[in-house]
Amino acid sequence: MDNPEILIVGAGPAGMTAGIYCARTGHKTVLLEKAFPGGQVTKTSAVENYPGYAEPVNALMLVQQMEAQTRRFGCTIVTAEAQGLTLSQGGIAVQTSAGIITPKVLIIASGVEAKLLGVDGETRLTGRGVSYCATCDGPLFRNKAVAVVGGGDSALDEALFLAGMCSKVYLIHRRDQFRACQLAQERVRNNPRIELLLSSTVTSINGAQHLENIAVKNLKDGTIRTLPVAGLFIYVGSLPNTGWCRDMVQLDEAGFIITDDGLRTNIPGIFAAGDVRKKAVRQIATAVGDGAIAAMMAHQFLENR
Ligand code: NAP
Repeated sequence: MDNPEILIVGAGPAGMTAGIYCARTGHKTVLLEKAFPGGQVTKTSAVENYPGYAEPVNALMLVQQMEAQTRRFGCTIVTAEAQGLTLSQGGIAVQTSAGIITPKVLIIASGVEAKLLGVDGETRLTGRGVSYCATCDGPLFRNKAVAVVGGGDSALDEALFLAGMCSKVYLIHRRDQFRACQLAQERVRNNPRIELLLSSTVTSINGAQHLENIAVKNLKDGTIRTLPVAGLFIYVGSLPNTGWCRDMVQLDEAGFIITDDGLRTNIPGIFAAGDVRKKAVRQIATAVGDGAIAAMMAHQFLENR
């Protein structure tokens, strides 16, 4: 592969927006993605708070449109994984599964990945009933009882999605207050198929070949309930995908990249955009905004060199 002027790592909404802006400004741009374009959006079913769609839009359709738009401006999307970052003689070098790439500018938009619950049985039964993606695996549990863990927007949105196809959805949250938006809270409380288990934690995940049941402890009275569920969907937050660049760029204590107002990292010519950076609000809309800012700052950086 010829070295691009701008390399973007991660084809979620932030990376694809950066790709659109960089390519449209005339820069030779490569967008690296280890799996499929779309990022965390592909793990949800429908999106109803992204402007431009009066009705909820299918999440896969939305990211496919972003991908087509990115390609239309000439941004090349390469399937490869970023594995390391070094600075050689002042230049940026990204080690990838497709070889070393030495761009003039790097935009890190490598996003986040699901955090594990860390409970006995979780890893062994992942793919055998335990899942981190309701859109992908929900249909496997049609007309069956499932449980969702978490109290954020992801957990509540996906509980609602699952309630549309499963016979019963237990929503388990460790506190008695959700952090999800008010509208999602009202919807789960009003859904007859969703049973809330608040101030409760999953203490074990059990099954021989497949998930059979989970044990849930009520933190207020100490009682333990065994719930027979075929599926367990874990939405307890996310971890930044910064392992490959953590030795070079400055991170906060949780591993998110620290940027300034222009989305510059501590290294000149390296920018960060989207969920991977330290920020207060993680939404598709804010990721898209980040992508545009990072791309314009990257352009300015190249112009001033
Ligand atoms: P999140 O907001 O960080 O919520 C994670 C949830 O998991 C919290 O309720 C947390 O409990 C719980 N949790 C964390 N560790 C746990 C553990 N070890 N055991 C049990 N529970 C645990 O993550 P998210 O829901 O994935 O959302 C991430 C970001 O994306 C947020 O900014 C969210 O607003 C955004 N998002 C938006 C939408 C939308 O707009 N429709 C949809 C999805 C995501 P505590 O509350 O007790 O800390």
